[in-house]
Amino acid sequence: MKFAAHFLACWILGTTLGSCSNADKSTASTSSPVAPSESAAPVKSPSNPTYTTPRTTGPVPRNPSMHLPANFSKDAGVSFSRVSVTDPYVAMTFDDGPHPKNTPRLLDMLRERNIKATFYVIGRNVDLYPAVVRRIVAEGHEIGNHSYTHGNLSKMSDDAVRTELTKTRDAIVRAAGVQPRTLRPPYGALLQRQREWIHSEMNYPTILWSVDPRDWQRPGPSVVTSRILSGTTPGAIVLSHDLHAPTVDAMPATLDGLLRKGYKFVTVSQLLAMKPAEATAQAANTPAE
Ligand SMILES: [Zn+2]
Repeated sequence: MKFAAHFLACWILGTTLGSCSNADKSTASTSSPVAPSESAAPVKSPSNPTYTTPRTTGPVPRNPSMHLPANFSKDAGVSFSRVSVTDPYVAMTFDDGPHPKNTPRLLDMLRERNIKATFYVIGRNVDLYPAVVRRIVAEGHEIGNHSYTHGNLSKMSDDAVRTELTKTRDAIVRAAGVQPRTLRPPYGALLQRQREWIHSEMNYPTILWSVDPRDWQRPGPSVVTSRILSGTTPGAIVLSHDLHAPTVDAMPATLDGLLRKGYKFVTVSQLLAMKPAEATAQAANTPAE
């Protein structure tokens, strides 16, 4: 019975909060922002109490320590789904948290491997779990803006979008004292016109993704792992959701698999910062007119 209740809670959360990659646009467009009464309620835990991370034989592979610049130029672009690099860099992104149980469990896995990732947090979850956001920042990860209510921004007025993004930014600053520097729109839904004004007014580039394991459909941890391992190429931005316990369950094998393939993990801002350098190099090779 306990298990059934737990499963139901998972399903409700998954359905209510949906996913960034929800391809069903009808669902995305008809789901209105969660009512204020609901947003104040604590999130029911969809953590997986029976799961234990499998023991790896031998040492866990570790990401190299890198001191890469993260100051990307605003001129780098308005939106990105990947960045063109030749070295095997990859940016893992985790959306829809923070979650009180799953996010700390993921943070343990990342810390063990010296991996820095990017968390696209929902503002109302930041207000519910500010301590988790503080830990994310304290451990060197990056925080991005994922709106306050996880509604479909492409259906909202400019003022409503502005409120969503500003409220989330303020919640992050209150919780952890840092500003988000990039935006991921829920469901990836944002019109080009919106991307442009948000970029010019709030300085956020819109970050989409090049690898989508569709983990929010809960295909099972091994499927999530194999989709990410087969889809990742240098410069990839990988979409995942730390809201979902099975996604976190998939991470040890996923992260170790990418490390063994030679991938080096960077944050989204570090990945974006590689682009202007490359553009400058290309410009330098172009004869002046
Ligand atoms: Zn999302």
